[in-house]
Amino acid sequence: MFKKIAGFTKITLLFILAAVLTMTGIGISLQPEYMQKEVAEADPSVMEMKNKPIRTIYKGSETVVQQPVLASAAPNKQEKQSDKTVYLTFDDGPSELTEEVLDILKKKDIKATFFVLGAQAKVRPEMIRRIHEEGHVIGNHTYNHDYSKLYERFHEFWDQIKQTEETVRLITGNRPQLVRAPGGTAGKFDETYFRLLQEGGYRVFDWNVDSGDSRRRGVPAAEIVKGATAQVNLDKAIVLLHDGAGHRESVKALPDIISYYQKKGYRFDVLTPEMEPVQFKLQSKVVPKLVQPGKQWIADHVSGNGSLFKAGKTLTIDMRGFATEFAPGEYRVAQDKLLVPLRTAVERLGGKVTWDNKNRAVQVSLSKLNWVADPEKGVIQINGSGGKTIASEVTFIGNTVWMPIRDILEISGHPMKSISYDSNKYRIVTL
Ligand SMILES: [Zn+2]
Repeated sequence: MFKKIAGFTKITLLFILAAVLTMTGIGISLQPEYMQKEVAEADPSVMEMKNKPIRTIYKGSETVVQQPVLASAAPNKQEKQSDKTVYLTFDDGPSELTEEVLDILKKKDIKATFFVLGAQAKVRPEMIRRIHEEGHVIGNHTYNHDYSKLYERFHEFWDQIKQTEETVRLITGNRPQLVRAPGGTAGKFDETYFRLLQEGGYRVFDWNVDSGDSRRRGVPAAEIVKGATAQVNLDKAIVLLHDGAGHRESVKALPDIISYYQKKGYRFDVLTPEMEPVQFKLQSKVVPKLVQPGKQWIADHVSGNGSLFKAGKTLTIDMRGFATEFAPGEYRVAQDKLLVPLRTAVERLGGKVTWDNKNRAVQVSLSKLNWVADPEKGVIQINGSGGKTIASEVTFIGNTVWMPIRDILEISGHPMKSISYDSNKYRIVTL
């Protein structure tokens, strides 16, 4: 019943849309092909599936399907090729095996999603670059995969997500928004993990097809193929694979896995933040972690984080040929001043900071000059002979020291020459 209504509504909408487009003259050249295809595919059951992301929650053998929301009626050309989609996902890389995985994907012209570890990204930045440049999606799999730390309390999980995010951002310029929990969320995430990651703008993806390649050491390729192709009836198959060290058999299995899904008429795609994530259901036996983040910690770390993934002005700084950028959410505008986190700003401009706990001040070394920022007194002390003290709006926001970017640049001997802005960005050029 529901299916029929949904299909009918969809067709009606398409006819109205096409009619409007034709009337306004926009759709004239488009109209014939567009209408034919839609009518040819106007099978209600097909239409329903194509247009509504279904939130499926897996809990052992029991599957709960929540009623989805009707998505946009605008047809998408890609979606017409096939109704079934497979999302190949690779965890734990990049490793020495990633290159081979990328070669196979390239040969087959397939895009996949790589949930990378920050520590691995750091030692193989060229692989991260290649994954990115070849059109795959990079997701965040934490920094070091260490369960004992990650699942003790949320703070540690968050810190590792941010650390990996910064590592990837420095290589590709993009920050990963998709997150996969090491080992999956089941039995590991409490409600706080789900809620705060969502609030921070991240999208957590588990999987619904486990290739079984990490069940034990050295699972043979044939068994991995079997595991990765077990759920033939899924419309959206999210396949868990690994490209971390020691997973050579997964690489061996990959061509067969790809051929299998191709034969079954699946199209291949990457996970996106817009999709309804597939997540394991929060198990009632999971006890909330003993240490929970406090209100202030959440306000300082999580609350503003979501805006990093929203469109807004970026702040770019050109410091004598050395350019850096702050995304929306990474800086603040307060009383006509652009404030930036001191450590982030100095490090991105090629300098160093250390926190002097005794004097509760930040020691900065930037452009061969040393100075101290005192957030409690709101002053800067310039070191060296004839060192002077100047007032600045250096201040704590939460536990982070923020400072007007103008002051940072001026003290470093690169005063602002110009500041301009349009709807997309602020741009500062220094002397
Ligand atoms: Zn993993």
